[in-house]
Amino acid sequence: MTQNLINAIEKSKRIKMSVRYLGNRQYLVVTPQNHNYVVRFETQEGLRYGRCTCKAGAKGLACYHLPKAALVDTAIQTMSH
Ligand SMILES: [Zn+2]
Repeated sequence: MTQNLINAIEKSKRIKMSVRYLGNRQYLVVTPQNHNYVVRFETQEGLRYGRCTCKAGAKGLACYHLPKAALVDTAIQTMSH
């Protein structure tokens, strides 16, 4: 794991965000500032890849929205198996 990703995970634990499932492995993440971002996941060769619509995500950096949405994605994937 990169330091960037570790920081993102730590930040996602501190900040209360709500996550709503939009279907097709897309999640709407709402921050306390009421910013809305869409996180989308796909699995390639057993690895999960996520993309976020925020500024960091657009640059290909790990943001704190991703780990939050990943928790919900994991729960949904587990339930549907
Ligand atoms: Zn983001």
